[in-house]
Amino acid sequence: MTLTLGLIFFIYGLVFGSFFNVVGLRVPNDSLFTQKRSYCDVCNRTLTWQELIPVFSFVKQKGKCSTCQSSISLLYPVMELGTALLFLLTYLVYGISWHTLFGLLLISLVMSVTVSDWVYQKIPNKLLIFYTPLVILYRLFFPLAPYWTSVVGAVFAFALVFLIILFSKGGMGVGDLKYYTFFGFVFGFSQFLLLFLLSTIYGTLYGLSMMLLNKATRKSRIPFGPFIGFAALTVYFFGNSIIQWYLNFLL
Ligand SMILES: [Zn+2]
Repeated sequence: MTLTLGLIFFIYGLVFGSFFNVVGLRVPNDSLFTQKRSYCDVCNRTLTWQELIPVFSFVKQKGKCSTCQSSISLLYPVMELGTALLFLLTYLVYGISWHTLFGLLLISLVMSVTVSDWVYQKIPNKLLIFYTPLVILYRLFFPLAPYWTSVVGAVFAFALVFLIILFSKGGMGVGDLKYYTFFGFVFGFSQFLLLFLLSTIYGTLYGLSMMLLNKATRKSRIPFGPFIGFAALTVYFFGNSIIQWYLNFLL
């Protein structure tokens, strides 16, 4: 653990956060590789390299486009800083290892899906299809114990969320079903239970705070992808400690 390496992870996080944001915004429109440079959404001017520096450019321009003065979405600096902190956390928890690499992989998926689901209410199939072979590969080299718990986790996740969709009539969608199933495979049965619990807690807390702030009613649709994703990251970083703590509490 060194300060220099921590700083490097943080700075890479800022840069990659900016990229995951673009992935999340463009993949649902199939425009990830068709638009080359970043531009202002309002006046369409291509951004200069200074305007592409994560967070600092936002602060320097006070959140406004320097040509047309339209305000830049807070999503950009929040995503960049959030990813930077998560990259740093990965280094603090896993040091330099294959688990670090896998952590960064999960963060990249979670951040892109969070943006897509937040902005378009969509969890893009393309992202899940892209990441599925990578997590299978990781689990071949680092299987859970017992190894088949990955498959049980996926099947259980699918069955549980499928039933919820069937009986709740709305609330969760097919995208959420696939996303949960994906993480069922990654984490296996017992850690998936924790993930599911955490995601509903996060979602409920968010829903309640929005209602308290009068920004939502009981009927507003809340995109659930971000809560599933952040529950998954919580489990990846702290799952074993949480389960250990809970077992100690019970016994
Ligand atoms: Zn502009």
